[in-house]
Amino acid sequence: MNWLTNIIRPRIRSLVGAKEVPDNLWQKCPGCENLLFTRDLEARFNVCSHCGHHLRLPVKQRLNMLFDDGKYELIELPKVPSDPLKFRDSKKYADRLRDTQAKTGLKDAITVAAGTVGGQKIVIAVFNFNFMGGSMGMAVGEGIVRASEEAVSRRAALMIVPSSGGARMQEGILSLMQMPRTMIAVERVKRARLPYIVLLTDPTTGGVSASFAMVGDIHMAEPGATIGFAGRRVIEETVRETLPKDFQTAEYLREHGMVDMVVPRAEMRETLARILRLLMDRGASQGDVIGGSGKAKATGGGKSLSLNPPANTSSQGQLAAKRALRQVRAAKRALENLEGKESGRTRVGQ
Ligand SMILES: [Zn+2]
Repeated sequence: MNWLTNIIRPRIRSLVGAKEVPDNLWQKCPGCENLLFTRDLEARFNVCSHCGHHLRLPVKQRLNMLFDDGKYELIELPKVPSDPLKFRDSKKYADRLRDTQAKTGLKDAITVAAGTVGGQKIVIAVFNFNFMGGSMGMAVGEGIVRASEEAVSRRAALMIVPSSGGARMQEGILSLMQMPRTMIAVERVKRARLPYIVLLTDPTTGGVSASFAMVGDIHMAEPGATIGFAGRRVIEETVRETLPKDFQTAEYLREHGMVDMVVPRAEMRETLARILRLLMDRGASQGDVIGGSGKAKATGGGKSLSLNPPANTSSQGQLAAKRALRQVRAAKRALENLEGKESGRTRVGQ
């Protein structure tokens, strides 16, 4: 198209030698429109140094940021049939999938890893928005089921980090079926008395926000993240009302009780470690005794840890469940107090 780029540039390159000059040396901040040097941006976990805007964070960087010493083990995810409906829009779904896989180097929109945060065991499942808008199809559903199973068998906490436009339309009803499937998967983690944490990132919408992403024990969110079911325009046209400016943001949802805390990326690791310490440490000694029976129920006793299940399982189980609930409530209260103190308002004895 342009003779400068098409003819002159390759010639100069061939003379100088093809030195790797990345195209994305600078990025524009979507928040304040300032130019940001990519290397600086990466060092700050993709947070703008001018306005604090949280740009999307690639999966690898997020895992490095969260896990102790950036060390983690990737969990192999089961294969799923690709394109079972032989779907085609402007392009064949099979081709679209193959292109995206080549472009991103990923198999699908989810990555699952296990390791420790603050010394506590955790399995983290992260969505990749660059992979077809982080849409949830069979592969993503399978990834969440696998992550939940892994958390239960390792007696680790589960954290899911959604960033998704919702269900994957190209898989039709099969993608919608992932909504109840993922709900059951995370329910298993809860029944095994292990914490299930959701870190809502930009954007969490559609079928993802209408399923596993809204049933966490603790909901954290990144500042400014868009979280909602339908888009703003659709809602405004349906209810014929103008919505507040900050509608569907992480901060708005915190004010209205859907999100427990909005945590800047710089404090994310420390906050997560603190939550895990509160939820995991106290339960550990009791959890190992009674958790075994819970697991046996959930998995049919396949690889149960408890060799000698307690005699009257049901009443002990109920007691354990009550105790766990009390602990989670106490932990939530403690966190609320802590947050209150940080913002100058003390809410002790609530
Ligand atoms: Zn900015």
